[in-house]
Amino acid sequence: MIGILGGTFDPIHYGHLRAAVEVKERLGLAQVCMIPCAQPPHRDVPAASAQQRLAMLQLALASHAGLVADDREIKRGGVSYMIDTLASLRQDYPQQPLLLFIGADAFGHLTAWKRWQDLFALAHVVVITRPGYSNPPLCSFLSAKLAQSSQPLSENLAGQLYFQAITPLDIAATAIRQMIAGQHNPAFLLPDTVIAYINQQKLYHPIDQTGN
Ligand code: ATP
Repeated sequence: MIGILGGTFDPIHYGHLRAAVEVKERLGLAQVCMIPCAQPPHRDVPAASAQQRLAMLQLALASHAGLVADDREIKRGGVSYMIDTLASLRQDYPQQPLLLFIGADAFGHLTAWKRWQDLFALAHVVVITRPGYSNPPLCSFLSAKLAQSSQPLSENLAGQLYFQAITPLDIAATAIRQMIAGQHNPAFLLPDTVIAYINQQKLYHPIDQTGN
């Protein structure tokens, strides 16, 4: 089984990384593909460039076998629709169950995603818990997909909806960006290597009045 965690990763943080490690172990995944978007469909342009977000992801994953930085959305360019990404992953892994992980916050907007119902023809959707977000009531389409255990995920290539609890970590990229802009220390919310890169690239920092 292959896991997929897409995101803006602006920047990658321990909320993403811990989620990836836990779902990989708990569900027995061969690998988790972490896929930074080029242009997110439903939100503002990210503060860091696609190449910078990918570089931060690669730094964060440097020593973690089984967690893979996948640059297919950046290479494809344009608005990153998950339906296109899953179609491309399905070509790469024709015989493996694909598990698309989304946080409870993102799941609340799933029905606004492009061709959202077709996602289930290509992958399972696994909702991971996130502090501050509860699960919305399910429409009849989603209720019919709901699996009560993880077993159907390994028995089918796609088509199930599953809820997976993970260690709650109340970390968000928005808060990290604000912290850095406010000249506060984000240590222990994201890897030191990523913090060093942010400082070196002057990402998220307040605008330097001298123009430097
Ligand atoms: P931002 O604050 O900029 O919206 P974010 O921290 O939510 O960013 P994203 O890159 O948008 O990060 O998230 C990618 C995916 O990871 C989404 O499905 C999101 O729900 C999930 N996710 C992000 N942070 C957490 C967390 N702390 N716990 C569980 N899931 C998370």
